[in-house]
Amino acid sequence: MPQKNTRLGALLNNRCPTCYDGRLFNAPAYSLNRVIDMPAACPVCGEDFMREPGFYFGAAYVSYALSVALWIALLVVLTCFDLWGLMTFSFFDDVPFFLITGVVLVVVLMPLLVRLSRSIWLHMFTRRR
Ligand SMILES: [Zn+2]
Repeated sequence: MPQKNTRLGALLNNRCPTCYDGRLFNAPAYSLNRVIDMPAACPVCGEDFMREPGFYFGAAYVSYALSVALWIALLVVLTCFDLWGLMTFSFFDDVPFFLITGVVLVVVLMPLLVRLSRSIWLHMFTRRR
């Protein structure tokens, strides 16, 4: 995991885009009723996390891109497992297996994807002071 005092580290660790220290979320990712519970401002530097109503709607595009990347990664991993002889997988013959595995993976990782997409979105529109 990258250092927290870098832009990438702050982004991946869900930290403030300005000070790289304050937490973006109030609760752990898998407390499911509080997945997107964010403070209105950074507890360390006061950076505004709620820019305007609907600011995080754009994070849905980031979430979509991350989900597509996850599906592609799953396809690559399953194909590599097939090539290495660890399992038998063919994209055209094992469609139900691929779909079920992908849906389970996306559902299990959804809290992390939602938070990462919000973090990416906020970091895209904030400069470090
Ligand atoms: Zn901050």
